[in-house]
Amino acid sequence: MKADIVTIFPDFFRGPLDYGITRRAREMGLATIEVHDLRQFTHDKHRTVDDRPFGGGEGMVLKPEPIFECLESLAVASRADRLSVAVKQSVIVLSAQGPPFTQQVASELAALDRIVLICGRYEGVDERVSEFLADREISIGDYVLSGGELGAAVIIEAVTRLLPGAVGNEASTRQESFTAHVVTDASDGPDSTCGSGGLLDYPHYTRPAEFRGMTVPDVLVNGNHLEIRRWRREQALQKTLRNRPDLLDGVDLSKEDNKILDRVRGR
Ligand code: SAM
Repeated sequence: MKADIVTIFPDFFRGPLDYGITRRAREMGLATIEVHDLRQFTHDKHRTVDDRPFGGGEGMVLKPEPIFECLESLAVASRADRLSVAVKQSVIVLSAQGPPFTQQVASELAALDRIVLICGRYEGVDERVSEFLADREISIGDYVLSGGELGAAVIIEAVTRLLPGAVGNEASTRQESFTAHVVTDASDGPDSTCGSGGLLDYPHYTRPAEFRGMTVPDVLVNGNHLEIRRWRREQALQKTLRNRPDLLDGVDLSKEDNKILDRVRGR
């Protein structure tokens, strides 16, 4: 996958792209990530990227010309081709007004050949960029940041770890919170059979089994794979009910799951 980030703060990305799985994916050639300085696409001596909003009001707005010129220099496919899925590319504007970034969106982006992330600043980006240049907007949450750079880093990290080969044990990315894929083959052993199925992940413990009087649940050390599987599913259901009950609507719940939920709810 190729990812391009368009920003007025290219140095911002020195840290986030240089650690962990993102770094590994780059070194392995699974992801090529380039950061583009928007100011290089200006033509005045002050390298102006922003201007006052039409209609008045607070703050400044990122101008369209440098962004269009930058994208033209990147030779991405036309908006029409991207929207018709004739090519596996997407040009994304980071925006608090966009649909939320989810694990599902991360999977969709990980299946593309190329993504371009446009980072807004100030009051935002001239709307013509979203209307005529980009093919989608994405918000990383219901809060307002000062710029799109953190959002771009979040998207890059979530997408990169889904690229085949990026994470050493690929099963681990299938078993995580929000991931809809569920493995049901009981013969696999507990470590590869507890896909979240769209729930939050179950709790994890490691050695020592007892630490300052705090012990790990007995079931995890008794070696009974079936019991471990059941316990993990129950814990995932409980945690989802407690912290993110909204997720339960989108999960394919078995009879057993519903019994567990009824019990936890005290019904
Ligand atoms: N006036 C905008 C609004 O109220 O929606 C907020 C602009 S914000 C101060 C500046 C830039 O930060 C945005 O253009 C966007 O690129 C980025 N940004 C802020 N919050 C974001 C979020 N939740 N998700 C993604 N990008 C965000």
